[in-house]
Amino acid sequence: MAQARPAPSQPLYERRPGQATSLVKVGDVVFGGKTVVLIGGPCAVENLDQVLDIAGHVRRSGGAMLRGGAWKPRTSPYSFQGLGAEGLPLLAAARAATGLPVVTEVLDPRDVEQAAGAVDMLQIGSRSIQNFPLLREAGASGKPVLLKRGMMTTVHEWLNAAEYVLAAGCRDLVLCERGIRTFENSLRNTLDVGSVAVLKEVTHLPVIVDPSHAAGASRFVIPLARAAVAAGADGLLVEVHNHPEAALSDADQSLTPEQFSQLAESCRAVARAIGRDLQA
Ligand code: PEP
Ligand code: MN
Repeated sequence: MAQARPAPSQPLYERRPGQATSLVKVGDVVFGGKTVVLIGGPCAVENLDQVLDIAGHVRRSGGAMLRGGAWKPRTSPYSFQGLGAEGLPLLAAARAATGLPVVTEVLDPRDVEQAAGAVDMLQIGSRSIQNFPLLREAGASGKPVLLKRGMMTTVHEWLNAAEYVLAAGCRDLVLCERGIRTFENSLRNTLDVGSVAVLKEVTHLPVIVDPSHAAGASRFVIPLARAAVAAGADGLLVEVHNHPEAALSDADQSLTPEQFSQLAESCRAVARAIGRDLQA
């Protein structure tokens, strides 16, 4: 029988009165400080040329970190499922070429060790928010973890998932709002910017926002990104592709490199308006 853990006197995620936001370091990148971390990259790693090209654009546009999915959670089993473990060396090559730390999603607890050996941060996706074995495994991996909000979870349930990661030993945890399902269906998801404000009060964990999966269409990504920074997000996770029309996953919401540059400029201006800046 799996034993319940003894509860701490207060949840590990909870912000004590006067406590500062925790700083989460991923290489030279710092989440939770004065500056806003811009992460860009493809939904899925497709091949070496693609990821190197996109990583170069992300770097030149002011991105501080690279994203790219090796294992992809796809709605249909007949859609491109990602390169799997074969995507990891391609991400490592992009890191070596640009110096950008890399975040990738893990779907299966059995892949955590291998992923942790190859990338700088492990992402747990929306669909895995209550995969408790995965939360425990990622939390015990020794790597920083990026925990996305489940599309059907309340802030409280999300924080309990975060508690699993923290209770497993992780001290470098970043939360990522990515939109939730509501009655509104004009965008792919409803971006809950309010959760950023609530989380800033309730938890010391840094909070970032993924405007891409909330928007579902590239033309709505920049306004949502601006709103996220204005609401106090500590970073942005944005999908960028060198040929969005040919992307093997999330083509409609992927920004071109030019649009990603515009997003960076625009969000830098918003950050400065509230006394912050984009992280160099
Ligand atoms: C992704 O980041 O590509 C992804 C699958 O996101 P989410 O888990 O938020 O749907
Ligand atoms: Mn995606």
